[in-house]
Amino acid sequence: MNLPIFAAQFRTMNLAAVGSVAFDAIETPFGKTDKIVGGAGTYIALASSFFVTKQSLISVVGGDFPKEFLDLLAAKGVDTSGVEIKHNEKTFFWSGRYHTDMNSRDTLVTELNVLGEFQPIVPEHARSTDFLMLGNLSPSVQLSVIQQMKVRPKLIAMDTMNFWMDIALAELQETLKHIDVLIINDEEARQLSGVYSLRKAAAIIREMGPKILIIKKGEHGALLFHEANVFYAPALPLEEVFDPTGAGDTFAGGFMGYLAAASQIDFETMKRAIIAGSALASFCVEKFGTQRLLEINHNDLQKRMQEFVALSTFQLEA
Ligand code: AMP
Repeated sequence: MNLPIFAAQFRTMNLAAVGSVAFDAIETPFGKTDKIVGGAGTYIALASSFFVTKQSLISVVGGDFPKEFLDLLAAKGVDTSGVEIKHNEKTFFWSGRYHTDMNSRDTLVTELNVLGEFQPIVPEHARSTDFLMLGNLSPSVQLSVIQQMKVRPKLIAMDTMNFWMDIALAELQETLKHIDVLIINDEEARQLSGVYSLRKAAAIIREMGPKILIIKKGEHGALLFHEANVFYAPALPLEEVFDPTGAGDTFAGGFMGYLAAASQIDFETMKRAIIAGSALASFCVEKFGTQRLLEINHNDLQKRMQEFVALSTFQLEA
């Protein structure tokens, strides 16, 4: 079994990510936090930093956002010059409460603040990025980022959610025509396709544009669809899920980071990329917010990926 090789050995491509950089206040059955740093863009960038040594984050924050956190991202190879700072405004704030099963949550507060008028401006040097990850934002904002590219990236991935299917379906369908990988959960796949069978849903969604579809199933892992191939990656059964916030974005960042660092994009590489994303997501949920992602190192990640191998390989009787 070839374990993934990590950043130092990789011939890394450029990666750019667009997504929220936020303050979150989270309540779980294990406790609650005051405002801590979160946001889809933050989780994506932290996860992909395990594989790429240079990446650009495109986002917006208010004057209240700690500069130290941007410095911390920069120390991990994240170019934050595309994170606009609106000094007289406030950072996006989200607050959520998880139910006992940790699979569902209620949003308690969404204060868009700087995100309300967010018109991302991709820095010049990121306009020829090889890999582009579009975090969950309005589909027209996601499209505007694609339109700023000078050269079509090798791979464009995006996240979205049922909210945009409800209020901006036409824009979403237009954006889907321009991307390669869509990463959504099972409920969203069913809503977008209008069918219950995930296999049928995948075929319908792939007709809409993205040739690669990843359907996340929370604690039940993720499915990867490409051409006639399907791959199932389990989620690691953890003794305790402490805080699921950001797991989806961490998964996406790990997946894209791994691919950006790989020498080719074929189905086998994508399978490993999914495991990389799943392994990082399994760390993410072990503590509040970004705490665990900031603690672990490449060794921890490598060991955890090995646990995924042990979890899901078997031999048929001779
Ligand atoms: P996830 O748990 O993967 O759905 O991601 C949660 C992260 O998304 C949190 O850190 C929030 O700050 C961020 N978030 C929540 N709502 C929004 C929104 N409407 N737009 C952008 N980011 C959001």
